[in-house]
Amino acid sequence: MQKGHCLCGSVQYEFDETQVGFGLHCHCKDCQRVTGSGKATVIMFPQDAVTISGEYKTYGSIGFEGSHVNRGFCPNCGSQMFTFVDEIPGQMFIKAGGMEDTSWLSVGMTCWTSTARHWLPADSDTVCFEMNPPA
Ligand SMILES: [Zn+2]
Ligand SMILES: [Zn+2]
Repeated sequence: MQKGHCLCGSVQYEFDETQVGFGLHCHCKDCQRVTGSGKATVIMFPQDAVTISGEYKTYGSIGFEGSHVNRGFCPNCGSQMFTFVDEIPGQMFIKAGGMEDTSWLSVGMTCWTSTARHWLPADSDTVCFEMNPPA
């Protein structure tokens, strides 16, 4: 099991890293805005592999292809941690930056290279997609 938490520590989570689906870097404009940076690095897990303690809030928005994206964050310190997509039931994404140990993690995919900023270019060692990966 692995752990993570927000900046202030009021939202904590544990997850079974052996249940990892895949990890990706996303350079879309929404991820840039919520992270305040050039990309988000998110890891997909089945929801039942993750235990969250503490109250987080979600902010819902419509993704670029009409999907319903709910981003979970700490209402106290604002740290972005989770993403739930209505169209991907039973799964969730965790932002890698809040995890304590990521030595087990490899990230093999990059999405939205078309909106990558010149100061944080897409990682060409990963499989790259100009927008979302094909379904
Ligand atoms: Zn917090
Ligand atoms: Zn994104």
